[in-house]
Amino acid sequence: MKRYDLHCHSTWSDGVLSPADVVRRAAKNGVDVLALTDHDEISGNAEARATAAETGMTFIDGVEVSVSYREETIHVLGLGVDSAQPALAAGLHGIRAGRDARARRIGESLAEAGIGGAYEGARQYAGNEQLISRAHFARYLVEQGVVSDTHACFKRFLVRGKPGFVEHAWPALDAAIAWIRGAGGMAVLAHPGRYRITRDGMKELLTEFRDAGGEGLEVVSSAHTPEQFVEYATLARLFELKASVGSDFHAPGESWIDIGNAPPLPEGVTPVWSDW
Ligand code: AMP
Ligand code: MN
Ligand code: MN
Ligand code: MN
Repeated sequence: MKRYDLHCHSTWSDGVLSPADVVRRAAKNGVDVLALTDHDEISGNAEARATAAETGMTFIDGVEVSVSYREETIHVLGLGVDSAQPALAAGLHGIRAGRDARARRIGESLAEAGIGGAYEGARQYAGNEQLISRAHFARYLVEQGVVSDTHACFKRFLVRGKPGFVEHAWPALDAAIAWIRGAGGMAVLAHPGRYRITRDGMKELLTEFRDAGGEGLEVVSSAHTPEQFVEYATLARLFELKASVGSDFHAPGESWIDIGNAPPLPEGVTPVWSDW
């Protein structure tokens, strides 16, 4: 059976390894089919694809698009996108253009909580100056000794109601799905278990997602517990969405699943790769 990992990050977004090093680590861990899915950015796909060719791995150009849905930020993966497609590239460029001002506001919010220099600190961690993410702030707060690790950070900071959270308008769900599909890709709803949404709200989201052309649901993710693998496999079947697997790898040791080490999909779902 082939080993798939269809969600990971490089230094083009908030990962700590270059695209080539992400691919090499995946190859070492036995991955057969890999997608790089940087936040709002596709510039790493070319390097990753070239390195994958050297290792004999199958590479899928990917992206993880930030979306505002009701009161929540959600993430939509685009798998198998054509990175040269201008409408997708333009849409993503527009998203990145808003990130620096947001990062400055995050810095101001942390300063009000007594933590200075966070914008500059986060920026030091960012490999792409258009792509300062909350993960970069989290790494700065760990470095400063404010929190012990990034997981602890997202409990006390950077999330709604806590210092370092700022409202931000990302694109709408239908726009993100249209860009992905326009570039020939499959839209997959990332880590549904992470969203603060009721059970009924999740069903409404999945209905809207599918109606807008979404085709997949990320069932196995490092953002999920094994119980959630089963829960989202059930929803994938119910909503006739294909099921995806991704480590959401960012950095060695930062989460409980390393790249390529996600468990297999539960029985009875149709994988996103069923007709690849
Ligand atoms: P942003 O796109 O700037 O809002 O940053 C989102 C990123 O922060 C995610 O892609 C993760 O890398 C990280 N993140 C968000 N929430 C958590 C969490 N609860 N635990 C660990 N990392 C998180
Ligand atoms: Mn991230
Ligand atoms: Mn995500
Ligand atoms: Mn991700």
